[in-house]
Amino acid sequence: MNLNTILDAHCHPTDTPGDLHIIPELSLGKIIIMGTRPMDQGYVSEIAEKYPEKVIPSFGIHPWFSYLIYDPNELTQSDESTIKAEHYKKILSPEPPGDFIRELPQPISITTLSEIISQLVVKHPSALIGEIGLDKPFRLPVGPYDARSSLPQGPLSPHYVRMEHQIKVFEFQLRLASKYQRTVSVHSVQTYTYIYDVLSKLWDGHWIPSKSQLRKYKPGEFESIREGRKQNYPPRICFHSYSGSGQQISLFSAHKVPSEFYYSFSTGINSRYKKMDETIRSAPDDKILPESDHHSASTLDKLVVESVSAIAKAKSWSEEDTMSILSKNCSSFLM
Ligand SMILES: [Zn+2]
Repeated sequence: MNLNTILDAHCHPTDTPGDLHIIPELSLGKIIIMGTRPMDQGYVSEIAEKYPEKVIPSFGIHPWFSYLIYDPNELTQSDESTIKAEHYKKILSPEPPGDFIRELPQPISITTLSEIISQLVVKHPSALIGEIGLDKPFRLPVGPYDARSSLPQGPLSPHYVRMEHQIKVFEFQLRLASKYQRTVSVHSVQTYTYIYDVLSKLWDGHWIPSKSQLRKYKPGEFESIREGRKQNYPPRICFHSYSGSGQQISLFSAHKVPSEFYYSFSTGINSRYKKMDETIRSAPDDKILPESDHHSASTLDKLVVESVSAIAKAKSWSEEDTMSILSKNCSSFLM
């Protein structure tokens, strides 16, 4: 399989710094490396500068790390140490005891986050926003909280991050993606309905009219109206390791939705679902992408090959057809 026109639409190789030197030798044409926490945005930026021919960076706060972001407007305290306790008591459920809070990192304000991400996307014109999203069953692990890996460290605590807080951090980043007109990579676990609701707020007033209504516009008229409004929503959104239903795909990929949706599939995550083949089959042919979702550069080629094969099998496409369809999808995704 020749991978040089193929993209790894979603991966985390900065979690394993010892393997990053492999990136220039990868067979894959390009890899999109996700940021997940305040700590790793700089690592992603650095590696994109080092290997610009292979790496497309993506900056954002993953829902597993939304607890690290506080909104100063929601707190009564303004002192660093008291902010921390007030913030964690407010956003975690059940409310954690003092000794649990003491071990947690000092959170950063949402305005600082905005400055960090804005600076990075301006510096990297091809950058995406991600990995951002919502995760309903997620519970905070007990740590350590300073590990290089973005995977949950230690056993899980009973504390959930309240959905209102996850939505706040997610929506804030969607608005940054809209402002800078960047593609978004989204993580969703049992939250596709919430995600549709949050995005609907951004799409409100900008829905695409029906085909018969569109015919009433002069040639080019609607396109120019659309052009003037596009900074209200992200141009393109990819659900990574998509695990929703086929019905939800028809909602997101509906004609009236102004953002364009892609669906990427990894064998690591998606093969855990019994319905993987059925889910891949329900994704539009021209909107499917392969991904590894992996945490080391050493296995990205191998895992993307597996993803490509799983897509070929589910869609009953020959290897040749699969490669030609996915190559086309990868290049339109990056436009
Ligand atoms: Zn990921």
